[in-house]
Amino acid sequence: MRYLIDGVKEHIECVSKFDLDMVEYGPALTRRLRWPKGCQLKVFVEQSKEKGFDNETTKLIFDSCKTWIDGEVPIVIEQSYSDADADVTFVKTPVLGNPSAGAVTQFILQGEEVISKAVISILAVMPESSIKSSFAQDKFRSLVAHEFGHALGIDGHSPFGKDLMYWKSNQLKPSKRDIQTVMAIWSTAC
Ligand SMILES: [Zn+2]
Repeated sequence: MRYLIDGVKEHIECVSKFDLDMVEYGPALTRRLRWPKGCQLKVFVEQSKEKGFDNETTKLIFDSCKTWIDGEVPIVIEQSYSDADADVTFVKTPVLGNPSAGAVTQFILQGEEVISKAVISILAVMPESSIKSSFAQDKFRSLVAHEFGHALGIDGHSPFGKDLMYWKSNQLKPSKRDIQTVMAIWSTAC
């Protein structure tokens, strides 16, 4: 997620550059990152008291990540039980650098575009609120699925409001265009 003003600027620039019927938005991205080909992603959700999530929220996180697989991205998500062993780690944080974001995804890269690890930090207030109302729960699901899209290699945002990877999306799962963008990134990079 970005600062509000950056998001608006990015949106205006993108809309003027891209057609609404684009099947994927790879050209709109800052970088196209990829995992080594054929990768099974091991996902670890921190569960410690200080920076972790409870069981119910952990389940929500896995369900939200899996919306990408339901969309037919050919990866396998496997639960990992240690951070050291994980490809993607979810952690709760009391502060994010960006005041308007609910989460941030950071990468450790091998070279310029191959991801060796992604860490998704979620603002502490989000998980607690997620179990209190279905509205907040949907917001949390959307946030997790969006950040997982970054972790899959979409470094940037969709210019289209109905895509999960739009900078301010409320969608619960990736659109066909989000899926095709991930697929396009992987096919050109491999
Ligand atoms: Zn984002």
